[in-house]
Amino acid sequence: MIELYNISKIYKMGDNEVYALNGVTLKIQKNEFVAILGPSGSGKSTLMNIIGCLDTPTSGSYILDGNEVSKLSDNQLAEIRNSKIGFVFQQFNLIPQLTALENVELPLIYQGVSASKRHKLAKEALEKVGLGDRLHHRPRQLSGGQQQRVAIARALVTSPSIILADEPTGNLDSKSGSEIMQIFKQLHSQGSTIVLITHDNNIASQAKRIVRIHDGQIVEDTCLTYIF
Ligand code: ADP
Ligand code: MG
Repeated sequence: MIELYNISKIYKMGDNEVYALNGVTLKIQKNEFVAILGPSGSGKSTLMNIIGCLDTPTSGSYILDGNEVSKLSDNQLAEIRNSKIGFVFQQFNLIPQLTALENVELPLIYQGVSASKRHKLAKEALEKVGLGDRLHHRPRQLSGGQQQRVAIARALVTSPSIILADEPTGNLDSKSGSEIMQIFKQLHSQGSTIVLITHDNNIASQAKRIVRIHDGQIVEDTCLTYIF
């Protein structure tokens, strides 16, 4: 589903060039649960932004569901971001004035889904992450772990084919972090494709495959399915 071939990303800062990614080749199939593991500055977020069609590589080729991404128009890219990809970020990125339910409904508003259907889908997504009893709470009335679960519900509500999570447990204590990982495991067992970005070995080891990245290059790619 995700095919990256020899992807490089160079940021130019005055006379300096930063190779954030340097020749990354990576394939991720439907239904995989992959952790991208690496230290700060190794290029993880750059890779996530490219996979999520939020940014474009300097060179190399990215094929998503058979489409060469560089050949798509801005409208087509926006359509992919809104319908195929669910994003989860470290900072939750919820809108403080809106309730949990209203936050989760937002992506459906952009898709033009009717109010009654939006309400039903958002409620189901919140129930899926264990927040069926927090529909009308605002973010500040929820714990960090609960806010991240609202963000996951918002990522899920459009039934995306891929969930991309950049350091989703980075702002959480270890107990809330484990709860978030349980939700990802559950979503994976129900058929979601999950790409989780982390610098934390313990978090990464809960995925099915670990892709280790260092200085913009993949240095290890391990499938954990057969390790007991
Ligand atoms: P990670 O998410 O693993 O911490 P990033 O992908 O954010 O790593 O960054 C990789 C490298 O690219 C770092 O050296 C970072 O400083 C640099 N970088 C990231 N974004 C930019 C940018 N917009 N402009 C210039 N350099 C950047
Ligand atoms: Mg990052």
